[in-house]
Amino acid sequence: MRTGRQKTVENMNLEKRNDSKSHLAVKPVRRILTGSTIGVLGGGQLGRMLALAGRAMGYRFVTLDPTPDAPCGQVADRQITARYDDRDAARELARLSDVITYEFENVDAGVAAMLMEESYVPQGSELLYTTQHRLREKRAVEAAGVPVAPYAPITSLDDLEREAARLGLPCVLKTATGGYDGKGQYVIRERSQLAEAYETLSKAGCELVLEQFIRFDKEISVIAARSPSGEIVTFPPAENIHVNNILHLSIVPARISREIVEQARRMALNIAESLKVVGLIAVEMFLTADGKLYVNELAPRPHNSGHYTMEACRTSQFEQHVRAICDLPLTSTELLTPVVMVNVLGEHLPPLLDWIAAGGEAELDRTHGITAKVHLYGKAEAKKGRKLGHVNLLTDDVERALAWVEQSPIWRR
Ligand code: AMP
Repeated sequence: MRTGRQKTVENMNLEKRNDSKSHLAVKPVRRILTGSTIGVLGGGQLGRMLALAGRAMGYRFVTLDPTPDAPCGQVADRQITARYDDRDAARELARLSDVITYEFENVDAGVAAMLMEESYVPQGSELLYTTQHRLREKRAVEAAGVPVAPYAPITSLDDLEREAARLGLPCVLKTATGGYDGKGQYVIRERSQLAEAYETLSKAGCELVLEQFIRFDKEISVIAARSPSGEIVTFPPAENIHVNNILHLSIVPARISREIVEQARRMALNIAESLKVVGLIAVEMFLTADGKLYVNELAPRPHNSGHYTMEACRTSQFEQHVRAICDLPLTSTELLTPVVMVNVLGEHLPPLLDWIAAGGEAELDRTHGITAKVHLYGKAEAKKGRKLGHVNLLTDDVERALAWVEQSPIWRR
């Protein structure tokens, strides 16, 4: 909690803001020291793992979430239980916190503005504004000199018919706001589906965007961290495998060439630099068979595909986020061991718990040389498809870990 002893240091570093509207504005960079309170808007698993990392560094946490006893609330000093758009609750979060961060991007614009006014939000509101809307996000990525899949804004069925002819079939129609895990998307394979796709998605009442369908070889992601002082680091790329549009596995090192690794890291770095990110930015990309990379989307927060960093890197994404928003020097992202991260969904929890109870972890270590690090998020309801935890499989051979996951009854569907 914010105490009489003020732990923040106004370090007189003034960063020039590099955008057209406010090119003369300066924002003070503050170094937030241990013992200070970090406020987290959103109390899910990302906030929980952020708080676990930050508490180890001596920070205190307060979170705001509508669900009582939320995953982050369980490990924070305090939870404010209220809706995300409750201004009074957000004001209370501001009062209790020395610095505020968020664990999801759909923060209500009014709440974001109010928090900026009444508290210290080093990530700012522009990054949220950009990443809340697919079209704005794509334009920002292009402005960073980084390619995205060819796309077009769609405001009518006429637009859709014309642009589908230009981009070619198949193509993907998406809502510009509010979609996640494949929701708010329609893959159009034939012209006869155009009207239905438009009818279905225009119900959401927001702008739409049409993308060329990229026949990717692999999906990868790179997480970058940037501090208010302008220091940037990137984590090793993860190779991501989705099942039913939900992340199933992240494999690190990704099974891609050294050149693609370098190119992907450079793209994430350029985006972090160009968008003047503070904290983490996760960059999801498609890799085609002929070695081209296209950015699919950005997330201005810790990301599921970065959970592998918790035991496999010198610094986890969560610690790095705390370091970045507190303007501490960023530390090494070096990979210490190959790793496969597997998500635990509602349907995977009972067999996982049976496996643990039967001594599965020790046996896996002994027979396969794979150390399983199980992370569970403390969620009350184990609904099918809901992310309840993940397992980091530390190994010297990702193929062996993948083969074990493949035959394990835990992830049999
Ligand atoms: P998104 O919500 O944009 O991350 O999309 C969810 C998933 O749909 C991605 O991880 C891809 O597997 C697939 N997808 C999305 N956009 C495209 C695209 N333009 N081309 C091919 N596959 C796509």
